[in-house]
Amino acid sequence: MRSDLADQQDVVIIGAGILGVATAALLVEAGRKVLVIDRTGICEETSSGNAAALAFSDILPMASKGVMRKVPGWLMDPLGPFTIRPSYFPKMIPWLYRFWRASSASVQAETARAQAAIMRLAESEMLSLIERAQLRDRLREDGNLELYESEGELAASQPGWDVRGKAGIAYEHVRGTQLAELQPGLSPRFVAGTFVPGWKNVSDPKLFGQAVWAYAERLGARFQQGKVVSAQPADTGARLRLEDGTEIAAAHLVIMAGAWSRSLAQAFGDSVPLDTERGYNTTLPTDSFDVKRQLTFPGHGFVITPMETGLRVGGAVEFGGLDLPPNFARSEAMLKKASLFLPGLKTQNGRPWMGYRPSLPDSLPVIGRASAGRNIYYGFGHGHLGLTQSAATARLIRDLILESAPAIDPSPFKPQRFRN
Ligand SMILES: Cc1cc2nc3c(=O)[nH]c(=O)nc-3n(C[C@H](O)[C@H](O)[C@H](O)COP(=O)(O)OP(=O)(O)OC[C@H]3O[C@@H](n4cnc5c(N)ncnc54)[C@H](O)[C@@H]3O)c2cc1C
Repeated sequence: MRSDLADQQDVVIIGAGILGVATAALLVEAGRKVLVIDRTGICEETSSGNAAALAFSDILPMASKGVMRKVPGWLMDPLGPFTIRPSYFPKMIPWLYRFWRASSASVQAETARAQAAIMRLAESEMLSLIERAQLRDRLREDGNLELYESEGELAASQPGWDVRGKAGIAYEHVRGTQLAELQPGLSPRFVAGTFVPGWKNVSDPKLFGQAVWAYAERLGARFQQGKVVSAQPADTGARLRLEDGTEIAAAHLVIMAGAWSRSLAQAFGDSVPLDTERGYNTTLPTDSFDVKRQLTFPGHGFVITPMETGLRVGGAVEFGGLDLPPNFARSEAMLKKASLFLPGLKTQNGRPWMGYRPSLPDSLPVIGRASAGRNIYYGFGHGHLGLTQSAATARLIRDLILESAPAIDPSPFKPQRFRN
């Protein structure tokens, strides 16, 4: 058994998803010694296959008024945009209860304010990290086009656009020639769209995450492969044990294990209602259709993203926990719809994928100090927005470790907010 206990590490991060690598980058830039531990590799899990969006304008929470009335439908339709796997439903009840509480108008407004604040930080931190790491060639700035099948659907989306407008997010409703120019070849079933010019994407999320890591590694960050099987507070920091028996002492420990963070947080005194929204997609060859920018189909719960490595079709939400096998009929169902929305789309030779969004019922991430142990920090639970908010989270964790003033008010994200 190897032991690194005598040799205490400065900062250890559990998880090499996009949250872990962005945080490693900001900490090594600040002169800290960083060790990142992951059971698989760099951005090999949820951060590898997402829709590549830097969705800085996405400030509305999932929980909205009347949302609970939709739950029976989610149980009935196994291929719809939102599904609960029936065998998982009993385990979801406490999460759904908190989700319902988060759907009141007053909580929604508070959440949107908190999201708007972290999104402003997310944009400035991400763009400046991209500059410092010289990753401009991995950034796409074509905006996002949201598509509607009726004027009624567009009108129903207006309250959400009003909230975004008040938060300073630019958007434009488009029809006719303007719509056709933004995306040639769309099915005529789409009568209107909303163009968000400030929306950005990365050219491929896995390659982007690995490029951020390469930058962090050049500045001295180190990686160790291993599964953390136990983590506990120590006099100064924490002690970890890996599956192969290796023991590691950390002066500062950051838990960024995505959807698998819940039991790690429990060891540090925090019971966080983290669950997972499983998402599905298919990555088609790049020449499957000439998609000009990310296309969003709000009525169908999925997006189409052009990337350097292919055309990614997918999204959807499935509540089914971490252990049930994937249901790739969901990827197929979205692909079938996509071929109706973009007539001529070549749907052959796709690569299906499922990932685990780490989700809290109030749609806000957990960022802050653990209850047990002063030098233990969390950065997980970013749901649909982990790539988008990775650099902002990294900044807030760096501020905590360096004991500098936080870049924004961190209180909406505190881990202990679920105590009542
Ligand atoms: C279909 C889909 C589309 C999405 N689209 C977008 C998008 O367009 N934009 C966006 O911003 N977000 C998007 N997301 C969400 C985004 O992918 C996630 O929020 C983000 O990847 C989470 O990153 P993470 O680093 O927290 O977790 P992960 O990427 O899951 O990384 C956690 C890491 O921790 C490791 N780990 C866990 N437990 C242990 C342990 N005990 N020991 C060692 N290692 C451990 C895992 O191996 C993993 O590598 C999407 C998600 C899905 C599923």
